[in-house]
Amino acid sequence: MKTCSCFIGYIAMNFGQPDQNLTDKPYLCPMKVIIVGAGAAGCFAAIELKRCRPDAEVVVLESGQRALAKVMITGGGRCNLTNSFRGVTSPERVYPRGHRLMKRLFHRFGPEATRQWWEQEGVRLVTQEDECVFPRSQRAGEVVETLLRGMQEAGASLICRARVESIRQTTEGEAGGRWEPVTADGRTWRADCVLVSVGGKLGELGKSLEAQGVKMEAPVPSLFSFCLPGCPITKLPGLVVEHAAVGIAGTKFASQGALLLTHWGVSGPAVLKLSSLAARWLAEAGYECRLSINWLAGYSEGEVRELLLDLKAGNPQKQLVSVHPSELQGRLWQAILLQSGLAPEQRWCELTAKGMNKLVTELTASTYAMDGKNRFKEEFVTCGGVALGQLDGNTLEHKTLSGLFFAGEAMDVDAVTGGFNLQAAWTTGWVAAQSIAEKFP
Ligand SMILES: Cc1cc2nc3c(=O)[nH]c(=O)nc-3n(C[C@H](O)[C@H](O)[C@H](O)COP(=O)(O)OP(=O)(O)OC[C@H]3O[C@@H](n4cnc5c(N)ncnc54)[C@H](O)[C@@H]3O)c2cc1C
Repeated sequence: MKTCSCFIGYIAMNFGQPDQNLTDKPYLCPMKVIIVGAGAAGCFAAIELKRCRPDAEVVVLESGQRALAKVMITGGGRCNLTNSFRGVTSPERVYPRGHRLMKRLFHRFGPEATRQWWEQEGVRLVTQEDECVFPRSQRAGEVVETLLRGMQEAGASLICRARVESIRQTTEGEAGGRWEPVTADGRTWRADCVLVSVGGKLGELGKSLEAQGVKMEAPVPSLFSFCLPGCPITKLPGLVVEHAAVGIAGTKFASQGALLLTHWGVSGPAVLKLSSLAARWLAEAGYECRLSINWLAGYSEGEVRELLLDLKAGNPQKQLVSVHPSELQGRLWQAILLQSGLAPEQRWCELTAKGMNKLVTELTASTYAMDGKNRFKEEFVTCGGVALGQLDGNTLEHKTLSGLFFAGEAMDVDAVTGGFNLQAAWTTGWVAAQSIAEKFP
């Protein structure tokens, strides 16, 4: 096995001049740190660490051809980089995994600090009505460019096409805490501290960490849409219901928001949120369950009945299909009538009490058989990863493996949509960087 004595040949983008002998020289600089993964958390941490400790040697190893590839496609290319958090009364509703940790860390680097950080870097921000925060330029590229420039100016080194396959602890060196990441080409690197920020797919590296004693929560997808095979509403692809409520029948998992009908089932914010809240439950159920939809989430069942009785009283001679609640589009109304067993051409005055009951039920609690999540592996984040209980909640260092830190989605922290996932990456990257900076006086 070769020990890496030179970066030449690796450097896809090399900022500054890293110590050519990072691994071989004993301690020429006070602290050598390797950050594994140049995503949101890793790059943010690299900047903060170098700013706190300009004397430290910080090298970011990235498996891909370029850094921040995922950030570039976030928010549909606009990058929803945080959220105002106004109206987030219950953190567990936005962080189904890791809400206690995030609440604690937000006292140190929360959404407001994040906004200030980006504004100070020259990225002007805008908060949408739904409280999602974007760069005013509406360009994820601006976020990526800012991070890359920050790393370069701070003097962190970025080495692409360097997949870390294992990390082991050596007994050699001061304080017994030296770490050896090994890249796919068999080269061994050496550092005092390693920050693992590889995102949700830990792969081989995850197995190696488990062998070192790091406990993992099994990874399962989160933020995906649902397949409803053979369901009539799939004949209305592209139709959006602005305010629907969805839930998994027989459980407490439920969410509200816009619902998008697709040619394979349902998607949109309400469904993505439900998939996040129930990510582990759904995986264990093999993605088979009954999905319940309230098409008029703004109304109680009693109010829906009142609404229909008003329509009946005001339009007795009109056909059911021609008059409908203004919140619903005609095509969906027709599908709901058919699902209720009612003929669309029937007159309102002919609607019996039984028919009315069926219609109310279909409007407020239609149920559909879900069989599988979307087929295109489109899930946005991973639920699971490094179990939080073994990490120091103030430093993000492993409690027994000194010098091993974690940040971002590699940890068992994930959120619903709305900028909360990137916020977790910034917060945990910042905290890990501060903790590493303070570890060696
Ligand atoms: C399409 C899409 C859109 C999204 N939009 C938003 C949004 O608008 N707002 C929001 O808050 N969240 C969004 N997310 C989620 C958000 O992008 C992630 O939660 C966030 O990027 C996680 O940051 P991270 O640094 O932990 O991981 P990542 O950003 O995934 O970075 C991990 C990096 O590590 C590298 N890596 C992996 N394994 C290794 C290895 N063994 N060795 C070396 N390098 C390795 C990867 O190549 C990657 O560059 C979106 C996700 C997707 C997929």
